[in-house]
Amino acid sequence: MKRARNFNAGPAALPLEVLQRAQNEWLNIEDSGMSVMELSHRSAEFEKIHNHAIQSLKDLLEIPENYEVLLLQGGASLQFSMIPMNILNEGQRADFVLTGSWSEKALKEAKKVGNTAVVASSKDEKYTFIPKLEDIKLNEDAAYLHITSNNTIYGTQWKHFPETNNVPLVADMSSDILSKKIDVSKFGIIYAGAQKNLGPSGITVVIIRKDLITNNENIPSMLNYSIHSKNNSLYNTPPTLAIYLLSLVLDWAKEQGGVEKIAEVNGEKAKVIYDAIDNSNGFYKGHALPDSRSHMNVTFTLPTEEAEKQFLKEAKQAGFVGLNGHRSIGGCRASIYNAVPLSHCQDLADFMKTFQESYK
Ligand code: PMP
Repeated sequence: MKRARNFNAGPAALPLEVLQRAQNEWLNIEDSGMSVMELSHRSAEFEKIHNHAIQSLKDLLEIPENYEVLLLQGGASLQFSMIPMNILNEGQRADFVLTGSWSEKALKEAKKVGNTAVVASSKDEKYTFIPKLEDIKLNEDAAYLHITSNNTIYGTQWKHFPETNNVPLVADMSSDILSKKIDVSKFGIIYAGAQKNLGPSGITVVIIRKDLITNNENIPSMLNYSIHSKNNSLYNTPPTLAIYLLSLVLDWAKEQGGVEKIAEVNGEKAKVIYDAIDNSNGFYKGHALPDSRSHMNVTFTLPTEEAEKQFLKEAKQAGFVGLNGHRSIGGCRASIYNAVPLSHCQDLADFMKTFQESYK
């Protein structure tokens, strides 16, 4: 069977082993005589899958006892609104570091709820870097400080996180959750759409420190962390198939040796492609400055638009998928999430070299 060399930004490649296991269990899950999609979300069989996914996340990310894992809907985009609705109180201000379009969108939604401020930004430099920690103007009274840990579109990634003392650090980790070890205790809230490193679209993981879950009955139930928390994320019908696949991806991550092992491989994968860029005598140019380079999304341009078009055309013919840059900035982008094998990155680096040699 031929598998595409899939560099999509999300939904993205899933581990082949996960798809095969899902295929094997497709018609009969947990000996129930039915598929996972036909199970009641109140059944013991489904509850086992659901709780297993939550426990696996806790194990893999070593989530402390004073945090809760919620599985919600509405994508990471809904969290842009839910977070301020739940933790930005009147008279308070939410601070934002702008590192790309997703942080801008998070800010835009928070503004509709309350006061906000931008405390650092790399917008004027086309989001080519993550602002230095010492350049972030921390405000001790902020309700929270929001960052985007990996910028899917621009290909930049935070390497160190700010110390925020009593201010909850809120991170959109949609495109790098589970790609490396993180110290969850440094964060108030971590959230991520699943469709890059965790599974298919349709499920959003929210890891929230328990003291940030407040009982505000004015917040609509579906947007209220407290309601989801009290109901073990089963307040309404969840996307059962997506949760099942999430649980399989997490089992796979454990089989790989956990996040530290996965991070090692991700480092090798990224190096192979960044080396291809750096050794090209300027033919390929990375968008991100070297110390802000993402291990998840490698963004680069070619000398001319015409060369880029030709590159993307020939790459497609050679079986590479998803190398177009985001429609908002153009260029090229290779998304190399956890499930993309090292061999596919090596194939891409070889292809880049061959293309450069043949391009007139
Ligand atoms: N944040 C980041 C960093 C993203 O990459 C994306 C999606 N590409 C989003 C938020 C939006 O996620 P969703 O489509 O799940 O709402």
